[in-house]
Amino acid sequence: MNLITCLLKRNDCYRAGQRITPKGVMIHSTGAPNPMLRRYVQPMPGDQGYDQLMERLGRNPNGNSWNRSGVGACVHGFIGKLADGSIGTAQTLPWGWRGWHAGNGTTRPSANNTHISFEICEDGLEDRDYFEAVYREAVELTAMLCQMYDLDPTEPGVICHSEGHALGMASGHADVMHWFPRFGKTMDDFRADVAEDMHNEHTPNEVPEEDIDVKPDLPITSEQFSALMGEYLSGLSLQPGSDWSAEDRAKSIEIGLIKGVGDLNDDGEMDFAWRSWATREETTAMLLRLVPIITPEVAEAVATALQPAIEEMVQKLMEGKA
Ligand SMILES: [Zn+2]
Repeated sequence: MNLITCLLKRNDCYRAGQRITPKGVMIHSTGAPNPMLRRYVQPMPGDQGYDQLMERLGRNPNGNSWNRSGVGACVHGFIGKLADGSIGTAQTLPWGWRGWHAGNGTTRPSANNTHISFEICEDGLEDRDYFEAVYREAVELTAMLCQMYDLDPTEPGVICHSEGHALGMASGHADVMHWFPRFGKTMDDFRADVAEDMHNEHTPNEVPEEDIDVKPDLPITSEQFSALMGEYLSGLSLQPGSDWSAEDRAKSIEIGLIKGVGDLNDDGEMDFAWRSWATREETTAMLLRLVPIITPEVAEAVATALQPAIEEMVQKLMEGKA
């Protein structure tokens, strides 16, 4: 197992800081084809080890990791690809905390109150090598957690989200049974593999208590603020424009009102930072670009409006002459 710690300290669940006595482990998969851990897991500027973590994870340029307020969900860990393409696990909540992963129970209390949880990042669900690698990682992580908390790796100790729903302790989701059986694995196989792996000794991954303090109102330095604002703006810059503005955006490029800001995400295409802010200098440049565009039209409009008056004046002059 290749385990790193990157706590999602800005997630509302983390900030709630509730503790549980773990009774089991619930396995999820993300339901979206993106195997990269960086999609979900990013440190915050100012976090201990920020640079090293960013190097391991790679940068999520879209500002949509789960390390922010408003996600409405949080798990204790993610399994997926590190920046170098290798498979890894990122611990994102202290194991003994209450995660937000199971939703509401139907006939029993939610597994949020009892189960440690992790998400396996889904790819296109066609790649056997990827599946086998993340499956193995999940087995080892679950075995480590069962050892740490003295958990029974049979049902309902170790279950997936869909089993949790069937047991009345989770919302209605299909994970992971829409995926594992494609490669011949059931949750019974998984539990058996975990039980088998518990014969091996796993080094527990504990987060030092001083690292997990919840300090939601901790003041930040101006350096941290600048770094956060930079992250925020670069996130905005890469968001695609809204549907409603598609026609106007195309037109503004066509007439030269807006110019690209460069290739921000190295995808070989010019980016326009549609959702980002315009500065006063950019506004000035855009207004000045308008002048040559609108001048001929304005001139024509003025001429058309003045035509009757000019004709009248000419008529009077002619009459006067006559
Ligand atoms: Zn789930």
